[in-house]
Amino acid sequence: CGIVGYIGKRQASPILLDGLRRLEYRGYDSAGIALLNGGNTVKIIKRAGRIENLRQAVAEIAPTGEVGISHTRWATHGAPTDENAHPHRDQSGKLVLVHNGVIENYQTLRDQLLAQGDTFESQTDTEVLAHLVGRYFEASDEKDGASRLRNALKAALAKVKGTYGIAVMHADVPGVIVGARLGSPLVVGLGDGEHFLASDVSAIVAHTRDVVYLNDHDIVSLSEDQYDVTSMDGGEAQVKVSRVEFTA
Ligand code: GLU
Repeated sequence: CGIVGYIGKRQASPILLDGLRRLEYRGYDSAGIALLNGGNTVKIIKRAGRIENLRQAVAEIAPTGEVGISHTRWATHGAPTDENAHPHRDQSGKLVLVHNGVIENYQTLRDQLLAQGDTFESQTDTEVLAHLVGRYFEASDEKDGASRLRNALKAALAKVKGTYGIAVMHADVPGVIVGARLGSPLVVGLGDGEHFLASDVSAIVAHTRDVVYLNDHDIVSLSEDQYDVTSMDGGEAQVKVSRVEFTA
């Protein structure tokens, strides 16, 4: 339903929680965040119910991290439980992913992954996608972390039928968030030494007015200082910086 991501020099969790709250009006049944911190570990906190439940859990655990992704879920596959809330992890536990939309062929992919020994923590279509991206990441010998994660996502999406707005990050590639879209909106926010990724501009407009709306088939990698959009269908990506004029 809603996606917010942040990469920069500030603590990510308040920015993510505030962004999720601004998407609340769209409806949701659960919410979660994942943070990367310098120690190459990933911390996931997720709760069924209101964002307020998540906020309290985050306040108690007080996780730190300057890179993070977050999600409000509107369940399509699996009941609205803590386990089914996003972010979801891959088999290694180091890759985390949030997803808007539906993976139509998830059952086939899930059966294939189960046959290869994967185990699942949820009933969602999204967790299958996280595992699939993780498999391609593990199999890759690419040296550059950003391209390794980006190409793993691209390879996984080539196997997928369905719709998606996605944000993904990996503990072994701590300075990067990768996003992609098909049939579900995603926008990049441009800041000074920081970048944002969101399913709706209202989640990030408090921080920046300079945005790039992604098109279907676009894939983007974000670091603090750079963003790089290309098209997965082989064509040229249409990248245009827009200025958001409305007042939030
Ligand atoms: N299909 C996913 C799920 O049920 C994502 C739903 C959404 O767009 O929030 O977990």
